[in-house]
Amino acid sequence: MFENKDTFKATFLDRLVSMHGKEVQETTPSDQYQTLGCMVREFISSSWVNTTDFYEENESKQVYYLSMEFLLGKQLKNNLLSLGVYSICKEGLMELGIDMEQLEGKEPDAGLGNGGLGRLAADFMDSLASLNMPGHGCGIRYKYGLFEQKIMDGYQIEVPDYWLKEGNVWEIRKSDQAFEVRFGGEVHMREANGDLFFEHINYEPVIAVPYDMPMVGYHNETVNTLRLWSAESIMKDFELSELSNHNYHKIVEYKRRTEEISEFLYPDDSTEEGRVLRLKQQYFLVSASLQSIVSRYKKVHQDLKEFSNKIAIHTNDTHPVLAIPELMRILMDEEGFSWKDAWEITSNTISYTNHTILSEALETWPIELFRTLLPRIYMIVEEINERFCRDLWKKFPSNWDKISDLAIIADNQIRMAHLAVVGSHYVNGVSKLHSNILKNQLMKDFASIMPNKFTNKTNGISHRRWLLVANSCLAGTITEAIGSSWINNPTALQNLTNFSNDRGFQEDIAKVKAYNKQNLANWIYKDSGVVVDPSSIFDVHIKRMHAYKRQLLNVFHIIDLYRRIKADPNLVITPRTFIFGGKAAPSYHLAKDIVKLINTVADIVNQDKTIRDQIKVVFIKNYGVSDAERIIPATDVSEQISTASKEASGTGNMKFMMNGALTIGTHDGANIEIAEAAGFENLFLFGLKPEEVLRYYAEGNYIVREVYNQDPRLIYILDQFINGPLSKEKADFKSIYYSLLNHDEYFVLKDFSSYVETQNKVAHAYVNQEEWLKKSIINIANSGYFSSDRTIKEYGEEIWKIKPMR
Ligand SMILES: *Cc1c(COP(=O)(O)O)cnc(C)c1O
Repeated sequence: MFENKDTFKATFLDRLVSMHGKEVQETTPSDQYQTLGCMVREFISSSWVNTTDFYEENESKQVYYLSMEFLLGKQLKNNLLSLGVYSICKEGLMELGIDMEQLEGKEPDAGLGNGGLGRLAADFMDSLASLNMPGHGCGIRYKYGLFEQKIMDGYQIEVPDYWLKEGNVWEIRKSDQAFEVRFGGEVHMREANGDLFFEHINYEPVIAVPYDMPMVGYHNETVNTLRLWSAESIMKDFELSELSNHNYHKIVEYKRRTEEISEFLYPDDSTEEGRVLRLKQQYFLVSASLQSIVSRYKKVHQDLKEFSNKIAIHTNDTHPVLAIPELMRILMDEEGFSWKDAWEITSNTISYTNHTILSEALETWPIELFRTLLPRIYMIVEEINERFCRDLWKKFPSNWDKISDLAIIADNQIRMAHLAVVGSHYVNGVSKLHSNILKNQLMKDFASIMPNKFTNKTNGISHRRWLLVANSCLAGTITEAIGSSWINNPTALQNLTNFSNDRGFQEDIAKVKAYNKQNLANWIYKDSGVVVDPSSIFDVHIKRMHAYKRQLLNVFHIIDLYRRIKADPNLVITPRTFIFGGKAAPSYHLAKDIVKLINTVADIVNQDKTIRDQIKVVFIKNYGVSDAERIIPATDVSEQISTASKEASGTGNMKFMMNGALTIGTHDGANIEIAEAAGFENLFLFGLKPEEVLRYYAEGNYIVREVYNQDPRLIYILDQFINGPLSKEKADFKSIYYSLLNHDEYFVLKDFSSYVETQNKVAHAYVNQEEWLKKSIINIANSGYFSSDRTIKEYGEEIWKIKPMR
């Protein structure tokens, strides 16, 4: 159906009418999207089945990537490009008077993630398939993705994101492959022939039904599977009535309790409520995935003893770490393995990525809650803990402090990161700096007793999605210069280095950027009514709203710049458009205040005629993957200004680099590796070093007031919050004021001066376009290392021990 334009057009029209029961002229872009999506899925299906069969026939080792989040965004364009039929469709549709972009816009973003962690999982799926690697994802099919962010009167309002409203053309429900997941109840122990048997009774069953989505490789006919689980109540009516003693209300209650498990994604949040449900979600994902993996394994292989040679299971952060006790449970209780053998298999199967050192983000669960909800799993965790502590006792006799520091269960809490480290054969950080902090600070004692477990895998991004799909103009310009080999081998972007001084190529790059900026400017006008000048510097700060990411530092610079322009009517600066986007977790009040602050500053600045449009401030609401795809190609300056040591890696930074933006950033996460790759002279690093930040924390000798009192600019800015125009807002910016002056945990004031100085260098550098374009080209040329293809190859070779097939 995609052989050529004519067969495509004929099939498309035929399907369009039969699917929607309307005349072609009556169909909406949404109808057209549904039709094209279904055609693509059908087209993929034979490769999908073949890929699965091929892996089974070859008995190749498979990896399963367990993640509570997959921030997929849209699939259509990606899939069409991967299948090599994008231009046939685009041109065919054009001849039918249908605009491809409008049609693409009708696909809902699958927002099943908060930010970088979820997007990483999605880019990994893309790389696994494109590298012909037998790797699949396991996640939850949340009925509601991350909330939709609306802005009212400058405030963030959260609205449910019902992304499945029109269905999901990519998924296939497989009710015949459902599994039962058990919550609550009691465990009975029984002894027979000297063996202990465990029986889980009086539990509440939940049915996990898989919805499979195809993950399409680039031009290679590999289609892997992303399996998303949906929670349902047991289906047989008589069982239902038994379960609830024929009580209708109890049945309704039970249905509600089960179905809510896959209802919504938890916002990334340090002070979350309703945590029982979150733990239920985690076990639900893990139990359904492991039962499914073991059952599939047994279809293909004889002996479960070989499990870890044929299966690798990766846990994306600690959220799916119950995979460790769950695999133990299956092997012991259902397959009759001894503890020792089950442990050997489990710990050789599972590996774990740590994503953060923020202490509030390290998961723990109260024992009581955990034991009530997962009685058998609790017993296993307790046993893992006891055996581990006994080993520790041998290594550190009588050193109670050390043992309780390292224990999995302590202070009435289960520490998921400790469980993860003890039960995995590899633990990795996500940038060199982050992995070193893990090894030498946060998990120093673990690393000293198991030094070979700790490793680094610097994150990456899909260069297909973030360059080929998101910035086809730039991709085309690159291919014209160096050929298309970079698509399969992104390090070939290196060849652009030869063009960094080429005036003609610089001009081409400048034209692409100007075009993308004009498009973004048009879109901003439509979205928010703000007129922005496409020739100004587009200075972009898009990521989750969080104190450590320091949107405040950026705002401080804007307020200072605004003051300078107001103070000197003759001052001419390089015009700048400051663009923000990001969601604040609903109960993270400080982050929500910062959203309001940005919008308030935007109103003041944008309406002030006296500054002659030299600066504009834009807050793009409801930031998600599709927004990132639109904004990043149009960016000149990439804001990566987290407090040094706090951003484990960052992946936004890599996307910007690959699209030719220059970074203003701290010595944090992957920024450092980006600087090493591009050369420090080709970006703008500033501020405290990670070791300085860590020393201040350790010694507690950062005195905010000293910094504040010595810098009149800071006195002026902070004064705005309590006496100036910002204090006149209904909003209470005093909370921001006090959080900074009392504590300034993230060193906003400390780094302010260095940041402003560096921003002035940026403004100055931008004026010399020839130099700027040269730096931009060198950034693109060195961005190939940050492709997730490189990351996935490293995971495959060093952790999972899986190889590309075919
Ligand atoms: C890449 C990406 C992120 C991660 O951005 P960071 O700057 O690394 O925090 C978050 N959200 C979306 C939609 C992304 O595409």
